[in-house]
Amino acid sequence: MRLANLGGRLVLVDGSRALDVATASEGRFGPHPLDAYRDWDAFVEWASAADVSSGNPYGSNDLGCPVPDPSQVFGIGLNYADHAAEAGMPLPDSPMVFTKFASCLTGPTGEIPLVPGKVDWEAELVVVIGRGGRGISVEDALDHVAGLTVGQDVSERALQTAGANAQFNLGKSHDRFGPIGPVVVTLDELADPHDLAIGCSLDDQTVQDSRTSQMVFGIAELVSYLSRVVELRGGDVIFTGTPPGVGVGRSPQRFVVDGEVLTTWIEGIGEMRHRFVAPAR
Ligand code: ZN
Repeated sequence: MRLANLGGRLVLVDGSRALDVATASEGRFGPHPLDAYRDWDAFVEWASAADVSSGNPYGSNDLGCPVPDPSQVFGIGLNYADHAAEAGMPLPDSPMVFTKFASCLTGPTGEIPLVPGKVDWEAELVVVIGRGGRGISVEDALDHVAGLTVGQDVSERALQTAGANAQFNLGKSHDRFGPIGPVVVTLDELADPHDLAIGCSLDDQTVQDSRTSQMVFGIAELVSYLSRVVELRGGDVIFTGTPPGVGVGRSPQRFVVDGEVLTTWIEGIGEMRHRFVAPAR
């Protein structure tokens, strides 16, 4: 199943049709997009019997952030073997965790304000938690995942790396620096989440092109690892790291300029498209 946000309301989508969940469930679930994750198991039971083909046609440009205002947003650094090699860094022994503040999340299309500095791109597979919990074992972890979506961990490198202790959290949390979407796809729709093409382009020049098979810590390991420290809650979002080809790792380095269009995709999930716009002076 595919979950999305249409005009601020939770919908199930299939092809070009969207079924409004609150209407179809007679108020049991929705209308807020996060409501799907409050009682994930009950929602799945209801949604698997829903007739999405009875929904209404919709335009993909009308989809908003599929998981707005989650309680927690995690980011994982250096989680692709080929990206760690590009960065000249050894593979981490355990996941390197930071946060993107939830207020930076935005939808799969639209404009992103271009801030001063070194604005960079990071195409990422994003995990959405369904059933929450603490101390989740690796074996059980996928049962706690609602689905996957496409993300961009947009990063301003000057602030990210400023000072003796890097400021990952702030440098990655500017307004709209966390686009996700267009849909959350449940795991049963993907043959192997760890073998999907992932990439992005700037103005139609491909800058990242890899596969999720390069991930160092897989989805189950990340969910289990995080849950041993923090309680995971339905709707929590995990950006799982980026493959090579980021601007800071290129030679010469290259960063986003005013007006450029960033297109981000993952095989079997979908595509996002954003234009960077510098504020008028
Ligand atoms: Zn990242």
